Amino acid sequence: MLGLTPFDCALRAPLRTNGTLSQSQLYAIAIGSNRPHGRYGRPPQVVEAAIARLDQDFGLFDSSPILLNPAHGAAGRDFANAMALVESSLEPPSMLSRLKQIEREFGRRRGRRWGPRVLDLDVVLWSGGDWRSHGLTVPHPQLERRGFVLQPLVSVSPCWRVCGALNVRHLAHRLARKRPRG
Ligand code: ADP
Ligand code: MG
Repeated sequence: MLGLTPFDCALRAPLRTNGTLSQSQLYAIAIGSNRPHGRYGRPPQVVEAAIARLDQDFGLFDSSPILLNPAHGAAGRDFANAMALVESSLEPPSMLSRLKQIEREFGRRRGRRWGPRVLDLDVVLWSGGDWRSHGLTVPHPQLERRGFVLQPLVSVSPCWRVCGALNVRHLAHRLARKRPRG
């Protein structure tokens, strides 16, 4: 049972010790892949395997359909993207470390930003509010500009408030108005 819902964005996480919290929080994790994996197969199957892995490690609260998106930046190949909601009592830096460990286990090597990657796992939102520490900002700084993140997020959590009165659905509508094709 969750201590907080996505709609309680004004609430703050309780006191922290050693990277863990006294209460479970909800995390929205963006999943992306644009390179095949030797065992799992093509990007949509990689994303599917990553969702299963997040379920195994954290317990999945919900996940979006897997969407296909055209390549962006220097990435070259098309992406498969999805959003997973997971529960955890890890605080955000510990959660990001675990996600980076999963990326490595899926064969990701650090390289060019935006370059091709077997698996990308980003912390998009968490129910503890805003977080800023070395190498980690939550909400994810690119959230409002990334249709490939907002689109799957809308399907699992349209009413999650991101900043002030604006929720995920508002951000998606705003981006769609700016860039009608995507
Ligand atoms: P991107 O995910 O933007 O395509 P990377 O996966 O290479 O690019 O991430 C680059 C760095 O961004 C990470 O090493 C991480 O330290 C930092 N970062 C800052 N905020 C976040 C966040 N909310 N989720 C994931 N990474 C983040
Ligand atoms: Mg990333």
